[in-house]
Amino acid sequence: MIENISQLPPWTFTLVGLVFGLMVGSFANVCISRLPQKQSVVFPASHCPKCNKPIHVMDNIPLISYILLKGQCRNCKQKISLIYPAIELVTGLLMATVFYRFGFSWECLIFAIVVPALVIITVIDIEHQIIPDVITLPGIVFGLAAGSYLNGWLDSVIGLALGGGMFWLLAEGYFRIRGKMGMGGGDIKYIAAAGALMGWAQVLFIIFVGALAGGIFGGIGMGVKKLDFLSRIPFGPFLALATLISIFFGDLIVDWYLNLVSLQPL
Ligand SMILES: [Zn+2]
Repeated sequence: MIENISQLPPWTFTLVGLVFGLMVGSFANVCISRLPQKQSVVFPASHCPKCNKPIHVMDNIPLISYILLKGQCRNCKQKISLIYPAIELVTGLLMATVFYRFGFSWECLIFAIVVPALVIITVIDIEHQIIPDVITLPGIVFGLAAGSYLNGWLDSVIGLALGGGMFWLLAEGYFRIRGKMGMGGGDIKYIAAAGALMGWAQVLFIIFVGALAGGIFGGIGMGVKKLDFLSRIPFGPFLALATLISIFFGDLIVDWYLNLVSLQPL
């Protein structure tokens, strides 16, 4: 089986990742609309939110069905949001990148689970300003198991404690000073899971890049719309983006940085 796979040209595996990612993206859409409502993602089958008619399997093919149906429900002609095919496409492209970057390996399997979760977290946090426990709590367990495989259990535990601890202190400090919650508990559980998965050096990188991206966006937001930065802008999407960068390029960037300051990774 593995010999057969290794004989195929490398791009076929990337293509498998793309097609698989489009299908996972379709499932991500289900999770995004149902998880915040605490509904089952398995049952009932997909249906039109307006006329409630179940969507036929042939009308539920990622991207293709949207194009064939011209973005409308076949039954009631209700316009289907462009967000759905966009999420399918983004998930497909990210999954192709995972398959390309990691090849046929355990790393590929691990990040093929993590990357769609990042897409789901991003969209739910933008729409509802929450990161659901139903993703982050299993994420911490998964992070510890997968992180122990990737970097060893010690790095995984330190990453969890460092990420979760830093955000907990930040949230606690903000609460003491401003008398209201700034960063949510979802962010703390998220960064604990990310730290467990990626290890101590990468979780510092994720926090740095996430805060930088959030700060730039928040600075623009405060200028344009007079937003109260910490209390209004969901931090999850920036953390998810930083985690993606860490997954694909983190090793290269941290090695370069540690060489620069002459520290050795754990
Ligand atoms: Zn309909």
